Amino acid sequence: MFAIATDMGALVLLTLLFSLSSAPAHGWPDQDYKDQLLSSAQLDKDWLISIRRQIHENPELRFQEHNTSALIRQQLHQLCIPYSYPFANTGIVAQIGSGSKPVVALRADIDALPLQELVEWEHRSKFDGKMHACGHDAHTTMLLGAAKLLNQRKDRLQGTVRLLFQPAEEGGAGASHMIKEGALGDAEAIFGIHVDFEIPTGSIGLISGPVLAATSFFEAKIQGVGGHAAGPHLTVDPILAASLAILALQQLTSREADPLDSQVLSITYVRGGSTFNVIPSYVEFGGTLRSLTTKGLYRLQQRLKEVIEGQAAVHRCKAFIDMKEEEYPFYPAVVNDDGLHQHVEKVGRLLLGPENIKRGEKIMAGEDFAFYQEKIPGYMISIGMRNEELGSIHPMHSPYFFLDEDVLPIGAALNTALAELYLNEHKHSILDPA
Ligand SMILES: [Zn+2]
Ligand SMILES: [Zn+2]
Repeated sequence: MFAIATDMGALVLLTLLFSLSSAPAHGWPDQDYKDQLLSSAQLDKDWLISIRRQIHENPELRFQEHNTSALIRQQLHQLCIPYSYPFANTGIVAQIGSGSKPVVALRADIDALPLQELVEWEHRSKFDGKMHACGHDAHTTMLLGAAKLLNQRKDRLQGTVRLLFQPAEEGGAGASHMIKEGALGDAEAIFGIHVDFEIPTGSIGLISGPVLAATSFFEAKIQGVGGHAAGPHLTVDPILAASLAILALQQLTSREADPLDSQVLSITYVRGGSTFNVIPSYVEFGGTLRSLTTKGLYRLQQRLKEVIEGQAAVHRCKAFIDMKEEEYPFYPAVVNDDGLHQHVEKVGRLLLGPENIKRGEKIMAGEDFAFYQEKIPGYMISIGMRNEELGSIHPMHSPYFFLDEDVLPIGAALNTALAELYLNEHKHSILDPA
């Protein structure tokens, strides 16, 4: 073949053949696909950084992401990408591709945290008490980056990509509202990316099965009868009842939970009384429950109520328990789909090299991506952003959290390849209904 590349016509033909052979529509892509995609993403790096910094400087809390949402819509508009708005107040769903099945979804969360940024740098948060300390500014930017790349390749997409820009991940269960309002459409699978400060930039962390915990919160009030501390027999002491209830609760995880089903029950505050010589009439305490299975969390919630009520009754008190569902909705466990694991691993190896695919770590934090996974197979990927030289070494939700912006083009390319190659692999399943 190289022998005939002696005149311009043959050279053009050769180039055409070469580019066709790398096109993902014709089987699993080769090195050229990877190089092309990564270099297109790198060309967008300055644009990505400027978007991320705008979002970082202007953090907005759950369900108040009006300016962030406007910025996303403005960018989609400039890219000529159609979208629907609003979902869940400030959310957006953009759509790229043929409009027909298969449909695959990509999700980014867009909200910030109620936290004071303590990093001194040029683009720190302009709003006291609000900060993008969980990297959602990066997630939003990476999805916009993917929108641009997918749009450039829209004519060869073998189906449709839905891009979900979702509000209120931090405690607001924004995902459940997006779903109720139809954001998933006909999507048959969904991918989400979260930055990870423990994995070096350029690598990703993958884990199949349970990854993040089902979470809920609670507050308990133990009502007794207050009185002078010198006459405890004339009171009904809620401090003693609360103390024994708190101790008894610890036995739920140590004695009742399956040792192979990780669970956490943490009491994070106790409030009661105000002076030395008065037994108060009530004590309040609260905390959080977590389990790597959603079923495990339901059981823990049930037993928490029984133990607190039982312990209160033994000590002649009454107990009132509030699961705080209004303020902090229950989150199911994040469980990564096994079938999608194979896909993500394959795409990761192609794009980043096998040496950069790490085994992810389970943690007992929660993520509302779990709501999507209750509807369709889904997969959350940890994308590395650790860079010791830059000081990108702080955990999520730390006031010192600092992103290595080199992750932005990598995330944009990864989102793109996950969706594009998913469609290629699944285009036959809809032509051939079993
Ligand atoms: Zn977070
Ligand atoms: Zn987060």
